[in-house]
Amino acid sequence: MRHIAIIGSGPAGYYTAEAAQKQWGDEVRVDVFDMLPVPYGLIRTGVAPDHQSIKGVSKRYESTALSENVSFVGNVKIGRDVTVPELQRLYDAVVLATGAPNDRPLDIPGSDLGNVFGSAAFVGWYNGHPQFAGLDPDLSGRTAGVNGMGNVALDVARILAKTEGEFAGSDIVGHALDALRASNIRRIVVVGRRGPHQIMMTPKELGELGHLARAAPKVDPADLPEEGEDALLEPGLRKSVTHIRSFAAIPESHYADVEVEVEFDFFAAPHRLLGEGNVEAIELERTEVQAGRAIGTGEFYTLPADLVVSCIGYQTSPIPDVPFDERAGKFANDEGRILPGLYCVGWARRGPSGTIGTNRPDGFGVVELISHDIGAGGGKQGREGFDKLAEARGLDVVSFNDWKKIEAQEEARARDGAPREKFVDVGQMIKARGD
Ligand SMILES: Cc1cc2nc3c(=O)[nH]c(=O)nc-3n(C[C@H](O)[C@H](O)[C@H](O)COP(=O)(O)OP(=O)(O)OC[C@H]3O[C@@H](n4cnc5c(N)ncnc54)[C@H](O)[C@@H]3O)c2cc1C
Repeated sequence: MRHIAIIGSGPAGYYTAEAAQKQWGDEVRVDVFDMLPVPYGLIRTGVAPDHQSIKGVSKRYESTALSENVSFVGNVKIGRDVTVPELQRLYDAVVLATGAPNDRPLDIPGSDLGNVFGSAAFVGWYNGHPQFAGLDPDLSGRTAGVNGMGNVALDVARILAKTEGEFAGSDIVGHALDALRASNIRRIVVVGRRGPHQIMMTPKELGELGHLARAAPKVDPADLPEEGEDALLEPGLRKSVTHIRSFAAIPESHYADVEVEVEFDFFAAPHRLLGEGNVEAIELERTEVQAGRAIGTGEFYTLPADLVVSCIGYQTSPIPDVPFDERAGKFANDEGRILPGLYCVGWARRGPSGTIGTNRPDGFGVVELISHDIGAGGGKQGREGFDKLAEARGLDVVSFNDWKKIEAQEEARARDGAPREKFVDVGQMIKARGD
């Protein structure tokens, strides 16, 4: 028998569990740990609440989680409640699928002003991550600056732009819906250092911006490269650029009826944030793109901004006793192997890029490595040993069955038409589990 501990119940964790099952059938026991009492990582707390069809992928993870030889071990933080060396003594393989939950810092003067947030915090707030549920951003100002040219920046801009009615059927948490209902934000400026040909936004997500109830995107035609140059782009990016071109073609008269403008400010590098107490403006430097890189031109200008959300990427949290690549912000690994018996997958291995599906080959790849390293297993104790440790430490472990009770309560208290109203506090989650 092989005993495998997977740390993290997001896509990478459950794809690894699925791969282990496919590889070894009844000859493996997999425990999927999570620090939260609820599973699925960023599927629950990252993917936008108005993208329910994407969140539906959790049904696939549920079918893995419900199989006999896979267990969910929630409410246990590795590195705090239990150490990695302790798990290594109990399991043949320990796989870190802990994601990249920390914002890459916006390292400019003024980034410590009030109402300046990283996207992990801001997205966590509207998605009900217990760590960020109390963020309480001030939406009373008129202008929001959203820094970044990827899909997360688009999510943040779209959520700020939508009317209450457009959240029907979503699982945006109640506190965020209340704040957005009262929001005065009417101008959202998406700021990027480079130009339309360097965006990381995908066509579907960009297309959505063109179909909002009270908001419309706005692009300065002067920022567009020659149309003929689009032919050199890979097809996905070319399609995205087609959307940017269509936004640039919207006539000025259209905006007379538009309540919220979502402006794209290309070739703009944030230089410092200005304000007293809370942020009031962003000072930006105009850039030019040379050989794909943004170079400052020395021309500075100021954009009013009452809220700033920086969507410039994420880093993995280091865990004691695990080699860490500080520069790359992820665990030091070779194709997923940190050392024999200790592995990483998903964002903790590769950094924050790709789609949910990109994590699947990671999981299958790491199981190949594990298979090579551990053979038929080393007679370790696995779950039995962990249960003794958990009891000795007084850990309150949440099982998958417990999660299903929490889920049922979230569904029962949902707003009309919403799939669920999430609990946003660990204590509430534990209480909802019952005895
Ligand atoms: C805002 C946002 C929106 C996105 N939208 C989309 C989308 O629409 N479509 C798409 O394809 N992709 C989307 N993605 C990307 C997708 O979410 C990621 O590819 C995927 O979640 C990465 O999976 P993961 O398992 O590596 O990490 P995560 O999903 O982050 O899972 C990590 C898990 O590890 C747990 N954990 C962390 N540390 C510990 C610890 N010490 N002990 C125990 N547990 C721990 C966490 O609680 C979490 O459950 C989005 C990402 C973000 C940030």
